[in-house]
Amino acid sequence: MNFVVQLSYLLAAVLFILGLKAMSSPRTARKGIMWAGAGMVLATLVTFLHPAVHGLTNYVLIVIAIAAAGGLAWWSGRRVGMTEMPQMVALYNGMGGGAAAAIAAVEMLRALRTLPNDLQVRAEALAADADISVQAATAALRAEGAGSVGIAGALGADVAILAILGAFIGTVAFSGSLIAWAKLDGRMKRSQLVPGQQIVNIVVFALAVLFGILTFFTDSALVVAVFFALGLLFGVFVAVPIGGADMPVIISLFNALTGLAVGFEGYAIGNPAMIIAGTVVGAAGTLLTQLMAKAMNRPLTNVLFAGWGSSEGATSEGPEGEMKDISAEDAGIMMAYAERVIIVPGYGMAVAQAQHKIWEFVELLQDRGVEVKFAIHPVAGRMPGHMNVLLAEAGVPYDMIFDMEDINEEFAMTDVAVVIGANDVVNPAARDDPSSPIYGMPILNVDEAENVMVIKRGGGAGFSGVENHLFYGENTRMVFGDGQKVAGGMVQAVKGL
Ligand code: NAP
Repeated sequence: MNFVVQLSYLLAAVLFILGLKAMSSPRTARKGIMWAGAGMVLATLVTFLHPAVHGLTNYVLIVIAIAAAGGLAWWSGRRVGMTEMPQMVALYNGMGGGAAAAIAAVEMLRALRTLPNDLQVRAEALAADADISVQAATAALRAEGAGSVGIAGALGADVAILAILGAFIGTVAFSGSLIAWAKLDGRMKRSQLVPGQQIVNIVVFALAVLFGILTFFTDSALVVAVFFALGLLFGVFVAVPIGGADMPVIISLFNALTGLAVGFEGYAIGNPAMIIAGTVVGAAGTLLTQLMAKAMNRPLTNVLFAGWGSSEGATSEGPEGEMKDISAEDAGIMMAYAERVIIVPGYGMAVAQAQHKIWEFVELLQDRGVEVKFAIHPVAGRMPGHMNVLLAEAGVPYDMIFDMEDINEEFAMTDVAVVIGANDVVNPAARDDPSSPIYGMPILNVDEAENVMVIKRGGGAGFSGVENHLFYGENTRMVFGDGQKVAGGMVQAVKGL
């Protein structure tokens, strides 16, 4: 039976890897999700055959867990709106970290329970051998260090180290992801800094490391509990101050941490599917974190310990001048007579679900011989690849979609740059104003285009809360309204020509 279990884990791991590979392109992503999902179903169901699982109670508990979690995920997955996807991803990511930490907790508590028994058995054997009392034998064993070797003694040093590391990483990913979820869901202020935040973070981290080391040697459940609590606290303290431009970096970091925690705990309980899946997710998440940090121009240590990138302490002055607006119809007609147009989508396009109307509009422009391209900022929207997914869903060909570094120089040669629902990713303050909280974040240089059309409902700030001078530019026209309605108006205007 064990052979079947191990083979199933291997097959599940292969499905995870193939699934992840397929997810790297929008064309095959749907297939990739199905493969990875099938791997997960296999890895879950094979638990019933695991040699360590026996007794009716265990089977009933597994069925209840699968039914409750599967039912909840099915229900929430079906009703979640496209704009709520990022917070759902953050939530599920947190669950992964929490599950890994829970496995570590169970293993450690099991180890603590077996420690006294182990000592008792050895003391009784020694008492019988040496013809002394059990108390004397216990005292002699304790004097030799038995019973004080703690969790490491019961689990083995390698397993204990990985279990402890996985526990810390998992608890941080769990509590941090919950805070990220609350922020993305608008339940919490984007960024909250407590006085001396950097010191607090460093102290909590140092204490967590200290209690991690103590946990290795301890036979006290209290030490283990304090260690877990410190991990949870550190996750909260890391995520609470994050605002402005750092959110994408921290979300992908938590993603990577969850993968690592699962991999470590997989080693601790000897589960190869968890080791492979965790390592793959950890590696992919680490690469994504690096990409995001590079895209935001932010060293990771700054994100973790500094709490910069928040809108607190913003000293940049408010924009001067007035916004000039234009109707959707006039904007559409102007673009119909342009030669080159670049469209920059942002979070507001997802809110308005305007991608289909925008693509209809672009096809009309192309019929008239206008050259149209899409420019995607790496952190546009609320999750990595957010805009690519929306454009793919609308049927925009991939060769029309360009990354920031590939298209940024073309804005200066463009007749009209159309910004639909984007704000922070086109804010010139990030490039020009050293006092701005988002200074240093690379942006799409839409302000260099001959004309800029900004489609949004009002003049307000974006995710970072920083005012946008672009809206007041000489060459900027605001097209006020919901993204989908405005795009519909532009379509009608061009059709009427
Ligand atoms: P943004 O700065 O959040 O701005 C979005 C704009 O869309 C808003 O200013 C809003 O203005 C407009 N909008 C909202 N609903 C709309 C509708 N129905 N129709 C038209 N416009 C609408 O978006 P962004 O430029 O894409 O920048 C992304 C931000 O999110 C960055 O700060 C990034 O750091 C952060 N973030 C990204 C990720 C990621 O992984 N991509 C994750 C977390 C956070 P009105 O209210 O005036 O309409």
